[in-house]
Amino acid sequence: DEMDVDTIWQNGEFVDWEDATTHVLTHGLHYGTGVFEGARAYNTEEGTAIFRWEEHLDRLYASGKPYEMEIPFTKEELSEATLELLRRQDLKSAYIRPIAYYGYDSLGVSPRDCPTDVAIACWPWGAYLGEEALENGIKVMVSSWRKHSSSQIPTNAKTTGLYVNSLLAGEEARRNGCAEAIVLNKEGNVAEGPGENIFLVRDGEIFTPGLSQSILDGITRDTVITLAREMGYTVHDQAVISRGELHTADELFFTGSAAEVTPIRQVDNVEIGSGSRGPVTEDLQTAFFDLVERRTDDHDEWFTYV
Ligand code: PMP
Repeated sequence: DEMDVDTIWQNGEFVDWEDATTHVLTHGLHYGTGVFEGARAYNTEEGTAIFRWEEHLDRLYASGKPYEMEIPFTKEELSEATLELLRRQDLKSAYIRPIAYYGYDSLGVSPRDCPTDVAIACWPWGAYLGEEALENGIKVMVSSWRKHSSSQIPTNAKTTGLYVNSLLAGEEARRNGCAEAIVLNKEGNVAEGPGENIFLVRDGEIFTPGLSQSILDGITRDTVITLAREMGYTVHDQAVISRGELHTADELFFTGSAAEVTPIRQVDNVEIGSGSRGPVTEDLQTAFFDLVERRTDDHDEWFTYV
């Protein structure tokens, strides 16, 4: 098949790719009532390992909370199912996508009687924005779409329905010759990318918006903040960043499980810094890849070995 996946775990069973289907009257399909995760397994020096899997699983359950969604499997069951998927398909590295959504019962907006269906798929996935992007950085634009405010919908929950906003912002950017968008929040300050957190470097210090700015509490964001502080950088992790500060930044980069650490070289046709990957970004990117591929033995607690 197209995705190089032959087995998917669905509601407690391993099923063939073509059998992993759901009913057209699924609640989550109509109302966006699903929560999901995106994690990566890396081919490390110590064998295949999922990076910060505990945190991803914890966030999956936490994302369901505002929707009173009870996931009918334990964390251990979901974890074991995923490890088994990686083993069965002999995946050395992979992107991992667990999803839990309200299934079919009735199509009232209330999901009260709907089951919570759960599935997990793993597939090989290279650099989200391209290998070249990791080295040379990407061109982005500030989207004309604002991000939903955390007073309108919980933005710290990774809910399927939220990603229609990501689609609008991302596709607008691509129509305009950019690889990705930066999305401002309702107040007009910098929030994040459609599927990435954002970091700014100025005078050697690092700035990134906090949760009050209607962002997802990114696990890569936390990883980069932790590494940066260990390396001696000053990190302002509750920054309020105005649009204009993007253009005058020394460096900008995105973080995400899919995007990893991707430099931004241009915003709204303005070159950032020297117009290529900056030195602080490169320093953090190197530390990140050395960590996730286990070329260093720090933070062993962040790895779940297959
Ligand atoms: N913000 C949004 C909106 C995202 O979808 C993602 C990807 N999950 C991120 C930030 C980055 O989060 P993480 O580092 O946990 O993948």
